[in-house]
Amino acid sequence: MNNPQKHENHHIHPDDPDMLSVETAQQKILSKINRLEKENISIIKSTGYILAEDIISNKNIPEFNNSAMDGFGVISNDTSNASKKNPIILKIQETIPAGKIPTNKLTQGNSVRIMTGSAIPEGCDAVIPFEYTNFPKINQKKVKIYQQLTSGQNIRYIGEDIKENQKILSIGSTLNASNIGLIASLGIEYIKVFRKPLISIISTGDELVSPGQKKKPGQIYDSNSYSIYSQVIQNGGIPDIKKIVPDNKKSLENAFLECSNSDLIITTAGVSKGDFDFVKDTLKKMGKMNFWSVKMRPGKPLTFGLLNYKDKKIPHIGLPGNPVSAIVGFEIFVSPVIKTMIGKNQIFRKEITATLNDPIINYDNRRVYARVNVQGNPNQGYLAKLSGNQNSHILSSMINANGLAICPENKKILKKGDQVKVLILKSFI
Ligand code: AMP
Ligand code: MG
Repeated sequence: MNNPQKHENHHIHPDDPDMLSVETAQQKILSKINRLEKENISIIKSTGYILAEDIISNKNIPEFNNSAMDGFGVISNDTSNASKKNPIILKIQETIPAGKIPTNKLTQGNSVRIMTGSAIPEGCDAVIPFEYTNFPKINQKKVKIYQQLTSGQNIRYIGEDIKENQKILSIGSTLNASNIGLIASLGIEYIKVFRKPLISIISTGDELVSPGQKKKPGQIYDSNSYSIYSQVIQNGGIPDIKKIVPDNKKSLENAFLECSNSDLIITTAGVSKGDFDFVKDTLKKMGKMNFWSVKMRPGKPLTFGLLNYKDKKIPHIGLPGNPVSAIVGFEIFVSPVIKTMIGKNQIFRKEITATLNDPIINYDNRRVYARVNVQGNPNQGYLAKLSGNQNSHILSSMINANGLAICPENKKILKKGDQVKVLILKSFI
């Protein structure tokens, strides 16, 4: 890794008085964002949604006492001193397959052939697995028991998992495999969740061509639409990639007009001070620009505003064009917006403190988010290594990064060995 932090030339003056701190920018954005309304959806579609209601159990689970094993249901007292040498012989009064209920009460000297999950008959208080019996064929009338059982052995009791009227999930829970399964086990098909936002993604730039298309010299492939699409899904939104917009105001205006059904509009590029950076002007014309430019690296040129539509205002976040700036800008500003909209309680990513393995240099009093690979654990501590070249067009150094190490705006350098806060992007245990 040669000189991972080679200086980038930036045409924006670092002490721009309009530059906001990351926190102020986040607050300004979030003050305009509300949780979306509730909707009823089928549990089959609910993965990743946030519950908009408490789920109270309408029944006991298990609903009835049942067998934990394939074997024989017995009265435990009937098995006193049973062993391989001195087996106890019981009659088999019936077979109870899964899904059937017993027809008779279990009486002394008798057993039932029973499958895992089948309801145990009244009187039965233990189940002996087949392997501790002579495993009689299905048509045989008697079984040899090789082991003494205690009352309750291999029985799953009513309400052992969940009690009737128990609150099993609270508003704000993220729906996942286990809690969706739990809801299904109560027999509930539809639940209330917070609606997911529809998020329009607009890449701007005359040089951009979509992957899969032929391109001419000087053109590049649009990667931002795809990174952002993926980030939108991971954060719980519904992405909607729009056509690439060339560098002129009219085209962007038209593109904005096609986003009237969105909950949030994200553009990338065209927000700095280049000759063709027209996003700000268009935003000002069609709505109100709240701010642009944040004291951070990467990701300084960043706009936020509200676009006016007939009956509503739609928030717009203009991310920078450089691929890493766009991804980092999304993490810091868009991710908490989506999480707010979908009703998450925790909208910011976790931070840990790690020891730095490489220095982070801060050239111009901005907060630096350095791409790092963190390893370690809470007991032994964490070590954060820069994951490669830190320039904002170097997407490859994002590949091995699982976190963003933060050098505060008022620090000129964080040295090797210094403690550093790291925003965790991917779980690494
Ligand atoms: P701009 O903000 O328009 O000056 O763009 C900054 C840099 O990001 C330029 O090198 C652009 O070519 C690049 N860039 C802009 N949009 C994209 C995109 N959608 N995918 C990949 N690179 C982009
Ligand atoms: Mg451009």
